[in-house]
Amino acid sequence: MSRSVRTRPEASGQALSEAYDTALLDLDGVVYAGGNAIAHAVESLATARAGGMRLAYVTNNALRTPDAVAGHLTELGIPTGADDVITSAQAVARLISEQVPAGARVLVIGGEGLRVALRERGLEPVESADDDPAAVVQGFGGPDLPWGRFAEASYAVARGVPWFASNTDLTIPSGRGIAPGNGAAVQVVRIATGAEPQVAGKPLPPMHRETILRTGAERPLVVGDRLDTDIEGAFNGEVDSLLVLTGVTDGAQLLAAPPQHRPTYVDADLRGMLTGQPEVTVDGGGFRCGGWTASAGAGSLELAGDGEPVDGLRALCAAAWTAAGEGTCELDADKALARLGL
Ligand SMILES: [Mg+2]
Repeated sequence: MSRSVRTRPEASGQALSEAYDTALLDLDGVVYAGGNAIAHAVESLATARAGGMRLAYVTNNALRTPDAVAGHLTELGIPTGADDVITSAQAVARLISEQVPAGARVLVIGGEGLRVALRERGLEPVESADDDPAAVVQGFGGPDLPWGRFAEASYAVARGVPWFASNTDLTIPSGRGIAPGNGAAVQVVRIATGAEPQVAGKPLPPMHRETILRTGAERPLVVGDRLDTDIEGAFNGEVDSLLVLTGVTDGAQLLAAPPQHRPTYVDADLRGMLTGQPEVTVDGGGFRCGGWTASAGAGSLELAGDGEPVDGLRALCAAAWTAAGEGTCELDADKALARLGL
């Protein structure tokens, strides 16, 4: 199913952590959830790193500084330096710096992560539309961002000052449920001004470029839990990806994925980085993986056999994506997924 022309490691049983030089890991739903490490993450990352894989953490959240993210990961038992963290704040700061004069003032609607990233590029964060900014940038500001900040952005954007957004994720998970993300905040200014921002974060190319520039990765593997950010970002960057099922994506969403949302590999959790990924073979119209055989029937996906549930999902992905071609699979997958408990 890979678009890659390179030799994929499953043929040799080689672990992904050996086949790729750098893991570009999403955080929420991959490494931690609600502040706590996800099962098997700490040990799996330690083993991958001990084997020589570079680990980098790539987040669309522009609120926290790389230092703060690294501190959190280290506390969870994943020793991380600030240089191992790449944020959408850094990506948007570079994007702005390429379009405004050196040392220019930038009106910031967001948090400390954004201000630090702008200063790193030699730009001067300012707080008011009256400060003569050369650009406006919006990043996630947390729950205490005052409503008046959107007015400040709108005054400048309506005057024609170039507008940038770190990312446009509409929601952000919190311990208490789903909260509005930076994409919702961007929408407020969009409604007020009718303007469109330039966006840096996943799945767009500025974020992937920032990640490659900062890590020097030559053979990266994107590891994520979201199809429309992590996996699409890998697709746009033309690199391989591993989807883990510890976050927001379920089996039904994966089977219905259009081409740009289809990961190279699927696994239950980060232990999948340490193993060779089994090949899916075609056998008389069926797609076999482990003990499972999947096929596209009349109106539904069929699954026979038994074994590891994730092998069944891999077989179903091959059947669904082959049936869908460049579109999305509309075959009913409920019964097949129920057999896998997914
Ligand atoms: Mg995530």
